[in-house]
Amino acid sequence: VNTTGKADIVREKSAELYEKAKTYFPGGVNSPVRAFKSVYGTPLFIEKGDGSYLWDADGNQFIDYCCSWGPLILGHNNAKIREKVIDVLQHGMSFGAPTALENELAELILKNNKYIQKIRFVSSGTEAVMSAIRLARGFTKRDKILKFEGCYHGHSDSLLVKAGSGLVTFGETSSAGIPKAFAEQTIVVSLNDREALKEAFAEFKDQIAAVIIEPVPANNGLLLQEKEYLQFLREICTESGTLLIFDEVISGFRLGFEGAAGYYQIKPDILTYGKIIGGGLPVGAYGASAEIMDHVSPVGTVYQAGTLSGNPVAMAAGIAQVTELLRMGFYRDLNNKTEEFAESIQRFATARNYKFKVFYIGSIFWFAFTGQAAIRRAEDIDPASMEKFKKMHRELLNRGIYLGPSGYEVGFISSAHTKTDLERTKRAIFDSLDIVF
Ligand code: PLP
Repeated sequence: VNTTGKADIVREKSAELYEKAKTYFPGGVNSPVRAFKSVYGTPLFIEKGDGSYLWDADGNQFIDYCCSWGPLILGHNNAKIREKVIDVLQHGMSFGAPTALENELAELILKNNKYIQKIRFVSSGTEAVMSAIRLARGFTKRDKILKFEGCYHGHSDSLLVKAGSGLVTFGETSSAGIPKAFAEQTIVVSLNDREALKEAFAEFKDQIAAVIIEPVPANNGLLLQEKEYLQFLREICTESGTLLIFDEVISGFRLGFEGAAGYYQIKPDILTYGKIIGGGLPVGAYGASAEIMDHVSPVGTVYQAGTLSGNPVAMAAGIAQVTELLRMGFYRDLNNKTEEFAESIQRFATARNYKFKVFYIGSIFWFAFTGQAAIRRAEDIDPASMEKFKKMHRELLNRGIYLGPSGYEVGFISSAHTKTDLERTKRAIFDSLDIVF
């Protein structure tokens, strides 16, 4: 029994697996946040998922709100995806040659998304964004890119750069191993700060190939932007011959079929998508007008390739998932469910005078331990609030609720989450908040 009166879950098998994993992988993991460094206890080793549920190696069962960091919008082990994958698997796993499946997925996407005319499939979000940046540079014949503090765009060199405290800062990387000369090509400004943006454009107007933003920044909390600000971005890019890239690895096919571009009705020049179009298998994509996309090899001179790009098994999963998303009312139901969930938690916290906010959009939510009505910039998050998240995370695990293991990560609701799941989750959240505050 821990100090809060609720027994901690048993993690014996996970602990054993973690000890072994540490001898194989740096930090025992193949992606850093999985190591549970900012929450309590040993990382849980997952054995299976089904619908809204996850089971770990010790047999603990959880309602899952991480959803593999977003892509599982239909929940775990969706029967339609599984059956389609198994069907395609019978015929081989990779050919390194075109297949009809690629056409099928591209057609589903392009016919229902007016923001792109051509697309390229790759195998991860990182690869999609890296390729989009190269395309923007190749298209504009400019070198610099501008990104925003707190926006994550994968782990490629140009994008692992953050801002310092000034309005416009350069060259401070978020990782060892990135040559200063690369980082110097990346300008970083604060979100929701028009002056900083104007200043950067005044100084580097003819050198900025692209502005890249997560239109719904969701990797440093959920930093919801105002539509007018995104429109301002669109305008300043158009005036300067700079391409606007919306990185929709999280928001794409999540806010609606046309993602944030459709939600805000703003047309970026290049869009990047990721995991969600793979339905749980490794897929990414970038798309744009035919004019821009035809700068990509073998038509144009911007080189980008991939042995597993458009992999048939991944395409099969994507086709099954995307087909479900196109079902009438899919997003309406999912978004309504999320709104009800978020608002009732907010009402509880407000009634108790807890400094706690549920920020949400579409089926994405973020629990913020703050009294602020809105948080639009990464710098406005109080790092001390993460201690409260850590406590809450532990209490929720002990009550059978799984959130991503960091207070800076958002949560996702899938179509597999039932009313009963959400009611149970709310009760666990209420109990946890009473303990935390
Ligand atoms: N861009 C955004 C907005 C993301 O959220 C992520 C990952 O979560 C990426 C890019 C990188 O995607 P991946 O992890 O598939 O490389």
